Parts: sequence; structure tokens; C-alpha cells
Amino acid sequence: MEIDRYRRQILVKEIGQKGQKLLASKHAILIGGGGLGSNSANLLIRMGIESIDIIDYDTIDKTNLHRTAVFSEQDVGKSKALVLQERLQSVNTDVQVKGINKKVTSKNIKSLVQLADVIIDGTDNIPLRLLINETAIKHKIPWVYAGVYETVGMVMAILPKKTACFQCITPNIPDSKTQEIPVLGSLPATIAAIQCNETIKVLLGKQPAGLLIYDVWNQYFDILDVKRNPCCPICGKK
Ligand SMILES: [Zn+2]
Repeated sequence: MEIDRYRRQILVKEIGQKGQKLLASKHAILIGGGGLGSNSANLLIRMGIESIDIIDYDTIDKTNLHRTAVFSEQDVGKSKALVLQERLQSVNTDVQVKGINKKVTSKNIKSLVQLADVIIDGTDNIPLRLLINETAIKHKIPWVYAGVYETVGMVMAILPKKTACFQCITPNIPDSKTQEIPVLGSLPATIAAIQCNETIKVLLGKQPAGLLIYDVWNQYFDILDVKRNPCCPICGKK
């Protein structure tokens, strides 16, 4: 690893040489390479980790370009995962970037995520997040939820059996009734940056903040100290 490229980040006392070296030993799995995922991958790869797998089975559509990082008009029709691999690998050759053009299902999720130090949520639907949550809790892998809707975003880092899990908070998460989720173009980048901060903190062993809610239109920011539900079917005491 060429440590000097991170010099300005190492100067941050919360990171230092020790933190940077620790990050360089961590493997992340990103599920979903759209608005949130492309921005999160872009930030995380620049900040330096050992490796990242980017999983997405979708192709780039012109309507993705208003909210995604990295992609251009020339990429329309190409695999999101493979374009992210190609572009972001060239940003930082110290990080192993692997694009996986695959749909995540209940059958393959274990084999896809089992080596992860952290799973990053770049998905856009509740059923897939519930699947990630169940797998992450079962295999004791921390994961960082993020969601966007219109002008509101949410982020929560989930430590298995230590913090509330996604199932515990699901009653508070609005689900989209429409196929096309309305979203302000700049919002995914804002929320992905917060998600990336939480991911770095998880990897460096810092206690997560809780459920962060940010409404960029109404200048509303809040952190909810959500508690584990003792009756949660996923993380509660059975
Ligand atoms: Zn739970």
C-alpha cells in the first residue's frame, strides 16, 4: 500500500497511521451500484480499504444519471457493476475492486457476503434489505443501511446483536408504493457520504450513532437512539 496518498486523511487524529493500516485490511461488500452505491463505492475506494465487491445485476439507464456518480452517457446499457469496477479500479489500484453482475437472492447471499468485514446497502427495496439483515445477523457481519425517498434520507449502522437490527426498525421505514422511487438528484450523494462515514467508523470499531434522518429540503437532521426489540424475530432472544 502506498501510504503517502492518504497523508491528509492520516493527519485526522481519529484515523492516524494505525487507522489507515486497519482500513487497508478490510473487505467490504456493496449490494447495489445505483444512486447510493455508486457514490458510496466512489468515496470508500478513495479513502482506502483492502477490497470491495460491488454486486448489481442491472444495467445503466439514462434516468440513473441524475443521481449516480461515475457513470456517463456512453455507459447507458452497460453493467453497473462492471463499469464501477473499471472506473473505480483506476482511481485507486491499491484497492481490489471486483464488479459482480449478479442478482442477490436468498440462495446465493451467504456465499456472496460471508467473507465481508462490512456489508454496504445500495439497494432500493425493503425485501432485499430484510434478506441482507437476516444474513448479516446470522453470520455476525456488520452492515450499514441507507435509504432515500424524495428529499429524505436515512442511514443506520447495524452491529449484530449489539445494536437494533433492520427488522427492529422496519415499522419506522416508509416503503415505496410505486415502482419508480422519487428522489432529488443530489440526495443519494449526501446520504452515501453519511453512509461512508458510518462504514469507516464500523471498520475502525467506533460505536454507531443510531438511525440518522436527514431531510435536505426542510433542513431537518435527527439521530434516533433506536433500541433493540427483545421480541425481534431476527435479533431478539428466541
Ligand atoms: Zn432486530
